[in-house]
Amino acid sequence: MIGLYIHVPFCIEKCPYCNFYSFRAHQKQKDAYFSAILAEIRKRGGEKRANTLYFGGGTPTLLESDKINKIIKYATYYFGLGCDDEITIEANPKTLSQKKLFELKKAGVNRLSIGAQSGSSAELKALGRKHNLRDVENAVRIAKSEGFENISVDIIIGAPGQTVETMFETLEFVEKLDIDHCSLYQLKIEPETPFGQNPPSNLASEDDVATIYLAAIERLKKMGIRQYEISNFSKKFKQSKHNLKYWTREEYIGFGPSAHSFLDGKRFFHEPNFEKYINDVMYVRHEEVLNENFEWLMLGLRLARGVGLLDLKRKGFWDKVFEAKAKKLQDVGYAKLCGGRFFLTPRGMLVQNAILLNLCDNIH
Ligand code: SF4
Repeated sequence: MIGLYIHVPFCIEKCPYCNFYSFRAHQKQKDAYFSAILAEIRKRGGEKRANTLYFGGGTPTLLESDKINKIIKYATYYFGLGCDDEITIEANPKTLSQKKLFELKKAGVNRLSIGAQSGSSAELKALGRKHNLRDVENAVRIAKSEGFENISVDIIIGAPGQTVETMFETLEFVEKLDIDHCSLYQLKIEPETPFGQNPPSNLASEDDVATIYLAAIERLKKMGIRQYEISNFSKKFKQSKHNLKYWTREEYIGFGPSAHSFLDGKRFFHEPNFEKYINDVMYVRHEEVLNENFEWLMLGLRLARGVGLLDLKRKGFWDKVFEAKAKKLQDVGYAKLCGGRFFLTPRGMLVQNAILLNLCDNIH
């Protein structure tokens, strides 16, 4: 079964570090976008069955609830999405009123991913975010009262001025929210953003970020929120089913400008160009598919459970040289070989790219 991703490229305003494809839209643009998404679902639907739907962005909650409702109905009709299947929406805390959450729940959304970003007011300010801690608390409280039982928050690692202490402050805030899932994303300074043009002077160093990451993993574990992927943590049975498809090479279709797809062994995407998308929703560009086995290993080692030794053998990785390298990684604390599996430790995840290059230096 496949996953469906809807990219909603609208935001209240642009955050100074963000390079996702999003912009402030007027009503005409939202209406044109909505018609285009429905047209694309209609055109691509009919053959495959989906069991996850994910509204990402941008800020998908800026889309009117009746539009979200209709998109879910289309996904149900054209891709056989069931009423128990996972339907996630990313949300800016500022956009989650009681009315909005009631409407989203009624439309069938059963998972919320809230962009909290930090539990420290100073960090939120430094990140240029317009919401405050009270907005996040209210959004979570109201969401629970409306019956949402699967709530995630996004937290940024490496925010200006961040230390292990402020990260603990944030995780205490997360603990009080009593949510089910947490994503820790590292702040990347992208050259074309305001942060890229004029970086804050108090950005954490690479070493500091690594220390904060490792400390956060331990703290989350004590809260019963365990790591299942490099950047993702959850309580039992609350992993994101949709995002797991990306790391296990399952198929997905992305709708909307800048959305990526993986279907029938091919990777393709819509250009991040609103006008182009509105004019031709079936126009895509194809991406080069990496060596299939390399991609499998790269994605599998993002997961805390890693990859099975039998699969490593079946795919032709496991030979004397690979085994020696894997054991060496284990000796230095970067990986583990246990229970018939090979996986990276949190320390290993910090240097995953270097490890992959070392393990696969004979793959092209
Ligand atoms: S709300 Fe999210 S998607 Fe929108 S500009 Fe800010 S970081 Fe980017």
